[in-house]
Amino acid sequence: MSRRKTRPRTAPRTAPAPAALAAPSATPDSPCPCGLDAAYGACCGRFHAGTGGTAPTAELLMRSRYSAFAVRDESYLLRTWAPETRPDEVGFDPGLRWTGLEIEATTEGTAFHRHGTVTFTARYVHDGEPGALRERSRFARHEGAWVYVDGDVTE
Ligand SMILES: [Zn+2]
Repeated sequence: MSRRKTRPRTAPRTAPAPAALAAPSATPDSPCPCGLDAAYGACCGRFHAGTGGTAPTAELLMRSRYSAFAVRDESYLLRTWAPETRPDEVGFDPGLRWTGLEIEATTEGTAFHRHGTVTFTARYVHDGEPGALRERSRFARHEGAWVYVDGDVTE
């Protein structure tokens, strides 16, 4: 996922984030945002914390990056971004909350590949309005670990 490609920005840039829209928190025991039937700490949380090595497949990297958007883990997003496309920072929209991820298709992206794609729909609520982002993301290996390269937003 990239930054706010299709998401409207309706709040003025200088508006302070209301307390109710503070970054969502996840505990090791809470359900993982990525949708797998696992606790956050045993699923994407171990990759975010660096205690579980790196995601072994492009799909698991995609899931862990979605979860990182959900919990606003900027450092994980940046270190799993290909150097050639990595932004300087990840801007989290305080009015946007990610609510679900569906993986629709994958190509390659296993332990035996150097590239892979993941097509997914990510659902969100933005300032109270539900929406969805559908994207086909490209992944590659960088120094052995899967990283996000770029993606095409699809309908
Ligand atoms: Zn997960």
